[in-house]
Amino acid sequence: MSEWRTVWQVTIKFADSARYADTAVGRGYNRREITVETAIQLRKVVEWARANPQVTGFPYRRVRERVGEEPQHCRHGHGYDGGSAVRARHDWTDCICGGHFAYVCRWTDCDDIRIDPPAYDDCDTTEATLVAKARRLQWPP
Ligand SMILES: [Zn+2]
Ligand SMILES: [Zn+2]
Repeated sequence: MSEWRTVWQVTIKFADSARYADTAVGRGYNRREITVETAIQLRKVVEWARANPQVTGFPYRRVRERVGEEPQHCRHGHGYDGGSAVRARHDWTDCICGGHFAYVCRWTDCDDIRIDPPAYDDCDTTEATLVAKARRLQWPP
């Protein structure tokens, strides 16, 4: 089961790309992407950037990362990676939490649909709605 984690992505912009190039990404880069997981870490990065005269800007934005195990088999034990005939079909639904996949099992006579990441209380949608949507794809009218 996976979940969405919210992180911050900070772009540190440097004034002099030649002198302050990030050796990890090679010369010529005048920016560096940093990902932080907590507001405390973000504050440290921002304070460091403000105090650094070579930094000309540090725009940051919140992004979502999907972390954790993706489902490998349906709830009846059918593997999702057994070739195209039995591979699960994925259905995607946008949601305030980041979105949800529906894994539609394609084994004969199996109608299992798993939702991952699971729907939470504050989601735009419910698992029942997601399953119903995926089921319509599984058996078109
Ligand atoms: Zn199945
Ligand atoms: Zn959601």
